[in-house]
Amino acid sequence: MQNFINTSRRDPDKVETTERLKNFDEIYQLFDNSQVRKQAERCVQCGDPFCTTIGCPLQNHIPQWLEAISARDLERAFYLSNESSPFPEILGRICPQGHLCEGACTLDDGHGAITIGAIEASITDLGFEAGLQLPFPGIRHEQKVAVVGSGPAGISCAHFLLRAGIGVTMYERAERPGGLLTYGIPGFKLDKEIVDHRFKLLRNAGLVLHLQHSVGEDIALNDLLNEYSAVFVGIGATKGKQSGMEGEDLPQVMLAMDYLTVKQHQIFGKEVNSKYDMKDKRVVVIGGGDTAMDCLRTAMRDGASSVSCLYRRDMANMPGSRKEYHNAVEEGVEFCFNISPRRIYQRPDHQACVEVEKTRMGEPADDGRQRVEIIPDTAHCVPADVIILALGFDMEAMPGLLDAGVECDKWGQVQIDPGTCVTSNPNIYSGGDCYRGADLVVTAAADGRRAALAIMRKLLSK
Ligand SMILES: Cc1cc2nc3c(=O)[nH]c(=O)nc-3n(C[C@H](O)[C@H](O)[C@H](O)COP(=O)(O)OP(=O)(O)OC[C@H]3O[C@@H](n4cnc5c(N)ncnc54)[C@H](O)[C@@H]3O)c2cc1C
Ligand code: SF4
Repeated sequence: MQNFINTSRRDPDKVETTERLKNFDEIYQLFDNSQVRKQAERCVQCGDPFCTTIGCPLQNHIPQWLEAISARDLERAFYLSNESSPFPEILGRICPQGHLCEGACTLDDGHGAITIGAIEASITDLGFEAGLQLPFPGIRHEQKVAVVGSGPAGISCAHFLLRAGIGVTMYERAERPGGLLTYGIPGFKLDKEIVDHRFKLLRNAGLVLHLQHSVGEDIALNDLLNEYSAVFVGIGATKGKQSGMEGEDLPQVMLAMDYLTVKQHQIFGKEVNSKYDMKDKRVVVIGGGDTAMDCLRTAMRDGASSVSCLYRRDMANMPGSRKEYHNAVEEGVEFCFNISPRRIYQRPDHQACVEVEKTRMGEPADDGRQRVEIIPDTAHCVPADVIILALGFDMEAMPGLLDAGVECDKWGQVQIDPGTCVTSNPNIYSGGDCYRGADLVVTAAADGRRAALAIMRKLLSK
């Protein structure tokens, strides 16, 4: 250990850009046994490991599995990593580590943080390849729990209940399970076979999965409350926000989630409306978050003739991750900072245009973020064949939730006790984006785990 003097931080290799754009495959090639060991050996084994205590929402046992893998003990590293996390091979790939564990690493001060995410994903990939099995005991208790929604929050809750031997039935309205892991996050960040593999493990562990079952429509929430000892609601927040701008209902305009979901359906082999085909089109994406990055990079792979991002703040204030921004630039995306869209309109020749104004960053507002100031007399037009709005998400109301006595706030987000994830109905638990608003896979996973522990305490102490 402590080998950071001799070994530099090394990120996983990336597929070369022109190759990347030919398909939707993952762009990072994770570590083999020897690379993972070398990178793990850089860890200084701090007495108070901030990566775990401050950085990781799951408080994963990071220094412990780094020590195990550097001691060539893959089995111990695999079990330690899977002990606290419901899907380390997924989180290691898609967590914004720079803001989380790696951002809190003691070596992130010029030496280069430990490549925690890539090591984490590699340990579990290598463990599965070596035939290691997760410790599910089989269903041992009479009580059963219903989980509504098969996204990260639901998977995590189901995973920890099954590990305690409690039966779980999951209801998902989509055709495939995984929530945004399947239909939101593109394959170049997360291969869909990895999500399928997790569901295979959960089904082998006893999970009963009902797809195309929308709770509140195909089955009432009340029926679940009568049939199960507890219900976990992890229905996410995927209703795209409109901009309120004139012209957003033009046929050339679409919402980010619609585009990404349709594209994923197409990759799964479905016929899709040609409106979503970007070949030879000029695509403009409005927004600066990670969903915008995913749309930009998807459109590049979809054969667009040009892809640009319009963002009203500067680069320093852009919420999207730097890693994904650099990947997008490498892949040919043009970023236009300090550009604020005013309206969308169609010229007499049917060409759609985004009318924009230039901006500059002003004094900080009450929320601490710098204000956006419009620079007068700078209006101009950006022509586009397709305009994608990536402006955030709202919660979609689930029928029956309020009738079951579950309190929601004015935005429709479910209210819970943050310690136990229980709602104002003592038999209903919740977490993930439907409670937090659009957030992260790892925070949804942490909520699911917290809810599972509270449900276990309640059911098994009777
Ligand atoms: C394009 C995009 C890219 C992202 N990239 C990243 C990333 O790189 N890293 C990261 O950490 N986070 C990322 N996120 C955020 C992350 O995906 C979410 O925070 C996370 O998926 C939330 O998990 P969840 O389980 O709460 O909800 P979801 O993943 O939305 O899952 C909710 C599930 O509930 C189902 N459902 C809804 N209503 C019902 C009902 N009535 N009955 C039955 N089922 C129902 C839905 O179909 C869905 O499958 C991204 C988000 C988007 C949109
Ligand atoms: S779950 Fe995310 S934050 Fe936690 S160690 Fe893994 S990559 Fe880091």
